[in-house]
Amino acid sequence: MPYALVWFRHDLRLDDNPALRAALDEGYTPVPVYIRAPQEEGDWAPGGASDAWLHRSLEGLDADLRARGSRLVLRRGASAAVLDALLEETGAEAVFWNRKYEPATQPRDAALKKALRERGLRVESFNGSLLFEPWDLATQQGGPYKVFTPFWRSALAQWRAPATWDAPGTLPAFDAAWQGESLDAWCLTPALGWDAGFWETWTPGEAGAREAVEVFIDGALNGYRADRDRPDRVGTSKLSPHLHFGEIASWRITAELERARTAANSADMDGYIRELGWREFAYHLLHHFPHTPTQNLNPRFAHFDWAKVDPDVLAAWQRGRTGVPIVDAGLRELWATGYMHNRVRMIVASYLVKHLRYHWSHGARWFWDTLVDADLANNTLGWQWVAGTGADAAPYFRVFNPVTQAEKFDPKGQYIARWVPELADVPLPLRFAPWQKPDVLAHVAPDYPRRPLVDLAEGREGALTAYRKTGD
Ligand SMILES: Cc1cc2nc3c(=O)[nH]c(=O)nc-3n(C[C@H](O)[C@H](O)[C@H](O)COP(=O)(O)OP(=O)(O)OC[C@H]3O[C@@H](n4cnc5c(N)ncnc54)[C@H](O)[C@@H]3O)c2cc1C
Repeated sequence: MPYALVWFRHDLRLDDNPALRAALDEGYTPVPVYIRAPQEEGDWAPGGASDAWLHRSLEGLDADLRARGSRLVLRRGASAAVLDALLEETGAEAVFWNRKYEPATQPRDAALKKALRERGLRVESFNGSLLFEPWDLATQQGGPYKVFTPFWRSALAQWRAPATWDAPGTLPAFDAAWQGESLDAWCLTPALGWDAGFWETWTPGEAGAREAVEVFIDGALNGYRADRDRPDRVGTSKLSPHLHFGEIASWRITAELERARTAANSADMDGYIRELGWREFAYHLLHHFPHTPTQNLNPRFAHFDWAKVDPDVLAAWQRGRTGVPIVDAGLRELWATGYMHNRVRMIVASYLVKHLRYHWSHGARWFWDTLVDADLANNTLGWQWVAGTGADAAPYFRVFNPVTQAEKFDPKGQYIARWVPELADVPLPLRFAPWQKPDVLAHVAPDYPRRPLVDLAEGREGALTAYRKTGD
């Protein structure tokens, strides 16, 4: 059988993998390869938490391939050069991959496809990630959507449930001489072991992803619409890192959900699928507005009066020492687990861009480095949404009050107590705003900041004043 390189990227799975399937369907022996080329990701080389996840995910993929008779070849370097070398070594006649959509790698892949085809090779790329590719949906005028509701309405109108298929039971072996590098030599796992706590929460890899779907369907799906905003409960699917690394296809999730649909869970299921729609919207926006990972989508903010960054203040925000308990809880959850609940992401982001008036990119970069689900499309959408600078964003003048947010979404203060344990003995409602009783705070939690980095009313006023200066 002739050989085909199957280039794994954000599709670290064997089920529902269109590139792998194409290679097999066309009669090739697949040579699975993963190329480490962070230098090709532009400003967005994967952060430390993502790398720690990647290590485990690649380990899992290799084990799954070996169980079927194949294996994963790991190489480092420029993607074009590595593919060239492998084509030479193996004599492969084809290259298959599933598409990535980041502004730095999309043109690279397009150029590679063209160059390889010009050399007479069979090269094909596929959608391995999205329900709709970023160019599938367009407004009546033919342009991109900037508002979610019509985007999603159009998506639902065109919805055709894609087929799912299971991983092949066996895979053909290939020459043992075609060796890769050792994963350990890539040093993706942090030497200091700061990721130790991650793995109490997460199981990277395809099996972990499939398990997470099952756990969700049997549990948090029932009540999702009400509980998805409650950081004190297990109310969401926690599938985001699995989706980012392509350990599960989004259409496999919707198919599993549909199989489990009942009258009782139907509305929660639709609510959940709508959230997957936000991921689709994020990819649509990133494709059409590739400058947005660093620049505002809304030009009104071109001359916004962002505050000058004080590194100590930024560090206090990053490490959860702002003096605002719900904000600190979120940032400490992030540090400990590589994840933060969506509602709390909004609260901590709002505090940074509004109360501190720091440009959202400072927060986006921190999230990029620390989240296991760091995803350029979703992170950009999330930060620009909170900052009010993006598409269909929360208006800048709507400033979240972190105290009322905590009272509403963590009413018993349990999430705060979990992640800021020094406040666990501060009684409610003081736990939401402990600076109001400095003597109690000094007594119960002497190491916790006495007052917030910025007074909440002053921070809010500063944000609104800066916003008014942007006109209309
Ligand atoms: C400031 C900020 C930054 C963010 N950065 C990221 C990021 O880097 N990576 C990331 O995956 N998500 C990001 N999000 C979106 C959201 O917080 C996470 O997707 C969600 O918390 C993941 O948890 P879950 O899988 O349990 O979500 P669930 O509620 O179970 O949702 C299921 C899936 O839908 C998608 N989804 C849900 N909400 C959103 C959303 N608002 N935008 C886009 N997709 C969504 C995710 O893929 C998620 O896994 C960010 C949100 C904010 C406000």
